[in-house]
Amino acid sequence: MLGTVRALDAVVVGSGPNGLAAAIVIARAGRRVVVFEAEPVPGGGARSAALTLPGFVHDVCSAVHPFARGSPFFRTLPLDRFGLEWIEPPAMLAHPFDAGPAALIHRSIERTAAGLGRDARAYERLIGSVVGAWPRLEAAVLGPLRWPAHPLALARFGIRALASAESAARAFATERGRALFAGIAAHGMLPLDKRPSAAFALVLAAMAHVAGWVIARGGTQQLTTALVEYLRSLGGEVVTSARVGSLDELPPTRAVLCDLSPKPLLALAGARLPAWYRRKLESYRYGMGAFKIDWALGGPIPWRDPDCALAATVHLGGTFREIARSERAAWEGAIAEEPFVLLAQPSLFDPSRAPDGRHTAWAYCHVPHGSTADMVPRVEHQIERFAPGFGARILARSVMTPADLERHNANLVGGDIAAGVVDLRQLFTRPTWRTYATPLEHLYICSASTPPGVGVHGMCGYFAARLALARSLRD
Ligand SMILES: Cc1cc2nc3c(=O)[nH]c(=O)nc-3n(C[C@H](O)[C@H](O)[C@H](O)COP(=O)(O)OP(=O)(O)OC[C@H]3O[C@@H](n4cnc5c(N)ncnc54)[C@H](O)[C@@H]3O)c2cc1C
Repeated sequence: MLGTVRALDAVVVGSGPNGLAAAIVIARAGRRVVVFEAEPVPGGGARSAALTLPGFVHDVCSAVHPFARGSPFFRTLPLDRFGLEWIEPPAMLAHPFDAGPAALIHRSIERTAAGLGRDARAYERLIGSVVGAWPRLEAAVLGPLRWPAHPLALARFGIRALASAESAARAFATERGRALFAGIAAHGMLPLDKRPSAAFALVLAAMAHVAGWVIARGGTQQLTTALVEYLRSLGGEVVTSARVGSLDELPPTRAVLCDLSPKPLLALAGARLPAWYRRKLESYRYGMGAFKIDWALGGPIPWRDPDCALAATVHLGGTFREIARSERAAWEGAIAEEPFVLLAQPSLFDPSRAPDGRHTAWAYCHVPHGSTADMVPRVEHQIERFAPGFGARILARSVMTPADLERHNANLVGGDIAAGVVDLRQLFTRPTWRTYATPLEHLYICSASTPPGVGVHGMCGYFAARLALARSLRD
């Protein structure tokens, strides 16, 4: 049995942002909670490490944090007092093209629209309407399915969001507008002609204006450190290098919250779950994987369009068609020769990430579930296409295949960084219609495999913990 010194109200398995959020909600309610984390360092998808050379700090998984800064729960926590500082780059996103200037998303909608020429009005209408309604939408978008407080605003948003990116992008008249929209939609890890791929573009683009596509000074680990330290200040405990193999190993407690996706949850609790629920979890669908690369660089990325250096995030995929082809290929089990690459360059805005004059870069592309293909040449070719001379700046690289991602975090089955396909069938009813609850009265799920799903926002943990407090942890 995993030891603990005190009698417990709740155990959280896993210290990802949702596990820590759940523990904080429980500790803030005055209950005794401990988090068991398998890895030596807490954080799950919110970690940093020296993956390449000494002195270079890389974000192992998440790097850019519109959701964390905009999270209705994290916003209520005094994380700045525990060392968290957000850095907002001059631009939120750059999307370069083979010819002509890059499209940029700025914090200001008007400035962003002005850069889109003929598509200025379309951007203001499509994204501006979501930004304007965000205070009425955020509880519904970043929470479980329930009767909305603002049904009209949600209905208006829903009509657009539940469409495919392909049909929503028809609002744009130019290739620049369509391609910019496609790159943001592709975060959803769905083919762009599949519903609700438009939702990712609408929400993430709106978050650029509402919260900013920010990075954490010192690396994403700083967010985790702040969450852990705040939890400790409330009396909560985090035990690392403590892999939980089965529910039987846990100390006596009134509630167990698992920051796990269905496959590792089945490994942990399967024997105790009724067969019908086990079957439901077994039929949960994981999606395409990610192939991730981190580089230590001798200098900044030599973008052909210098405006690409204004943003921490750069989308490399050129046109709508090329991005759509790449996402469709990964979905269908094929390798895209020109993969859509999501790149971050945090050291441009945070000198603590690399030694003087040196830089870091972080990138991934989508690949088929569990793919073993080596994407390094294809990804570096895409960067070179928009930044000739990139290859000559590489000092070292770290590579994570889908299998590596799963090895380092059991939640990422087949390298699926969204912890499960986010299509209409698994958008609201993740991982089953019971969402956070299970047939075992004291067992809850609090990972990104519950609503609202992927992203570092802690909202899955928040809602799961509120349910546990109401059901299992009432006085
Ligand atoms: C490569 C990559 C890039 C990403 N980029 C971004 C981004 O830029 N912005 C963004 O918002 N999101 C991003 N994400 C997604 C984000 O990281 C996840 O959605 C988020 O971390 C999910 O949080 P979680 O708490 O649900 O689970 P996780 O972060 O997956 O944490 C689960 C934790 O549980 C632990 N665990 C598993 N099994 C056990 C066990 N048996 N016993 C004890 N502990 C266990 C794991 O070690 C892990 O620490 C990215 C993810 C990846 C992989």
